[in-house]
Amino acid sequence: MKKPPLIWLNITLFATTFLAAIVFVPWRGITHGFELTEWLTFVGLAYYSGLSITAGYHRLWSHKTYKANSVIRFTYALGGALALQNSALHWSSDHRIHHKHVDNNDKDPYSAKMGFWYSHIGWMLREYQSQRYHDYKNVRDLQNDKIVMWQHKHYLLLAVIMNIGLPALLGWMNGDVWSMLLIAGVLRLVVVHHCTFFINSLAHIWGSQPYTDKNTAKDNGVLALFTYGEGYHNYHHIFENDYRNGIKWWHYDPTKWLIKLLHWCGLAHDLRKVPQERIEAAKFQMQLLKTRNKTAHLPNADEIVERLQGEYELLKAHLTEYYTAKKALLEAKRKQVADSQLVQQVAELKADFKAQKRNWRSLTASY
Ligand SMILES: [Zn+2]
Ligand SMILES: [Zn+2]
Repeated sequence: MKKPPLIWLNITLFATTFLAAIVFVPWRGITHGFELTEWLTFVGLAYYSGLSITAGYHRLWSHKTYKANSVIRFTYALGGALALQNSALHWSSDHRIHHKHVDNNDKDPYSAKMGFWYSHIGWMLREYQSQRYHDYKNVRDLQNDKIVMWQHKHYLLLAVIMNIGLPALLGWMNGDVWSMLLIAGVLRLVVVHHCTFFINSLAHIWGSQPYTDKNTAKDNGVLALFTYGEGYHNYHHIFENDYRNGIKWWHYDPTKWLIKLLHWCGLAHDLRKVPQERIEAAKFQMQLLKTRNKTAHLPNADEIVERLQGEYELLKAHLTEYYTAKKALLEAKRKQVADSQLVQQVAELKADFKAQKRNWRSLTASY
C-alpha cells in the first residue's frame, strides 16, 4: 500500500530542533557554559509548557475533568503554544478520537498497535489523518470557549512569540540571548515534546494493567516522572473523566496537584473524581481475570475457578454493602441525623470488607 505524503513542515521542525538540541546546545555549553538562571528558566518553561498540555489540553479541554477560570485557560493557551503541539482544539479532537477508538489502526490517530515509532512521532510525519483535519465536530463544546478559538485562530503567531520571542526576551534580560534561546527555547521544546509523546507511545507499551485489559494502556510509576503524572495511563483510559491519573496521594502526578492547588485558590472548580467503589470493583475484576488466566493450565483449574469465583462474589457483596452504608452515613451526617449506631455499623462493615480484601489478596497471590 502506498504511504500518504510526507508533512515536510513537521519533519523539518522535529529534525532541526532535535539536531540543534544535540549539537548546538552542547557546543554552546562547552564554548560559553550555561548559567544557573538559564537552567532554572529551562525547568520553569518545561513545567509551564508540559503542564499546559496535561492539565490544560488533556484534563481540562479534552476530558472536561474540571472547570477553570478564564485567566487559567488563557495561561494554558499560551503554554500550549509554547509546547508546540498544535492548537488545543485540534489536539483535543485527536485525543477524543484516540479514547473512542483506542488501538484501532484505522481510526485512532496514534494507535499503539502501529508500533512505538508511529505512536510516538510517526503519526505526525505523514498525512495519515488529512481527511479530517478540519472536521472538529467532536469538539463542538470547545468551540464555545472563546479562549480556545482565539488560540486556534492565532496559533502560528502565538507559537512563534512563545518559542522565540519569550526565550529571546528572557535571554536579553539575563544578558545572553543565544544561550537562553538554546536552553529554554530549543532544548526545552525537544525535551517536552518527547516526554509528552511518551504518553502515546511508552504508556501504551510499558507497565501494568491493574484496571483493564481492553486496551493497550499501561500504568507506570517511572513513566509518570517524565510525563507530568500521565504515566498512570491504564487508570486514565478506563476512568477518563477523573481529574487525577495517579489516584494515591503518593503517586507522582504534578498535574493533579496543580489542579488541586488551583481549586484551593478558587481558580478551578467542579473537579471530577470516580467513586472509590467503582475503582476497586474494576481492580478486583481484573485480578479475577488475571488469576483465572494464570491458573487455566493447572489440572485442578475448574476447582480453582469455582473457589475464586466464590471469594470474588463475596468480596463484591462486601464492597457494595460497605459503600452503600457509607453513603447512607454521609447523607445522615449532612442532614445532621447520624447516630452512633449507624457509625458503628459502617465501622463494622468496613472491617468486614477489609478482612475479605485480605482473603482475596492472599488467595490471588497464592497462584
Ligand atoms: Zn492513550
Ligand atoms: Zn486522555
